[in-house]
Amino acid sequence: SSSSSSTADLLARRRRLLAPTYGLFYEEPVHITRASGVWMYGPDGRAYLDVYNNVPVVGHCHPQVVEALAHQAALLNTHTRYLTEKPLELAERLLATFPSELATAIFTCTGSESNDLAIRVSKVATGGTGVIISEWAYHGTTETLAGMSPSSGMGRLGTHVYTVPAPIDQESASQFASRVQACIETMRAAGVKPAALLVDTIFSSDGVSADPPGYLAAAAEHVRAAGGLLIADEVQPGFGRTGHSMWGFQRHGVVPDLVTMGKPMGNGHPVSALIARPEVIAEFARQTRYFNTFGGNTVACAVALAVLDIIEQEQLITNAREIGAQLRRGLQELASRHPTLGAIRGAGLFIGAQITTGKAETTRIVNALRQRGVLIGSAGRNGDVLKIRPPLVFKQEHVDQLLGTLAQVL
Ligand code: PMP
Repeated sequence: SSSSSSTADLLARRRRLLAPTYGLFYEEPVHITRASGVWMYGPDGRAYLDVYNNVPVVGHCHPQVVEALAHQAALLNTHTRYLTEKPLELAERLLATFPSELATAIFTCTGSESNDLAIRVSKVATGGTGVIISEWAYHGTTETLAGMSPSSGMGRLGTHVYTVPAPIDQESASQFASRVQACIETMRAAGVKPAALLVDTIFSSDGVSADPPGYLAAAAEHVRAAGGLLIADEVQPGFGRTGHSMWGFQRHGVVPDLVTMGKPMGNGHPVSALIARPEVIAEFARQTRYFNTFGGNTVACAVALAVLDIIEQEQLITNAREIGAQLRRGLQELASRHPTLGAIRGAGLFIGAQITTGKAETTRIVNALRQRGVLIGSAGRNGDVLKIRPPLVFKQEHVDQLLGTLAQVL
């Protein structure tokens, strides 16, 4: 039976059954059978500290999420063509976390669906076709988004997709807006009208960038002056991870035209959304009946409401800010003793730690941490950034374990 399968058996079955597009983390892949809070457990009971997964934002298998899911699943699970209360309750709660301009919601099942819809809406609203993204962006799995996800497609871009270097350090951040402007001029010369600037507001796959906040506001002004929109992809930074507020764009003092979210929204269950300025979506709504069978179903909404409750009750934005600051201080202190560790970037519990000695050493560190029971990932165009992005219920003792183990490995 699968419960008694060895790692070797599981690997062989994967190779036989799953398409080779699937990847596994770590040189010695980890077999997990259950998880709770910040811990994931192997079949032998071994505990691994989860420093990587942003999806279980309130902690793996949070009992309140499980309870909300089970309760609603036993009562009613249906789509949005009937009058039901849950999607409205969720829309009210979500929209209350946004500036008043962002006042209308559409529910989807994945971040990709939200981004794909945002691109469709932006093209209709502007009459433009051009989309600007960052150099090593990831935005999703559809045909359109694959062309806007150079990090997953060996750098390939779709038609009328243009890239700007990610604002990964202070210098590139200060140049971000002027690079967007230069990109708009390149598009103009090619006869391409901009539809949108689409950015992950923490530039996760580019290697994590947060500082100094504000560069997005200036970039948005350029795009809007050229007739395009700002789409904030909040799939990674959203739901309080930056420790500043619910949404990454809020650190930048800008109000986007469209906002997309996913991953943490259901703590692991498929629920996501597009939030829009009503006037931006008006023409699209005249032209299109958008129906997403599972998007905003009753159970998905109950789960997402439980996640919002827990973020508030357990004050996880404050925790992300405080624990994130402690973790960054600890990493900076480690960096002062180990030249392998370079710049520490990020906000709240979204941290990128630059490895100064390249991809091979980054891979060694990631695997050595895994051997010592700490699960972490890497990011960046050169694969030389440690990606630190734990559930927001991370505590001081977990910071200590991560830092202690990283010190050994360095
Ligand atoms: N945008 C960003 C920034 C992401 O990181 C991801 C997922 N890695 C997506 C969009 C797509 O989300 P999903 O996998 O839910 O389609």
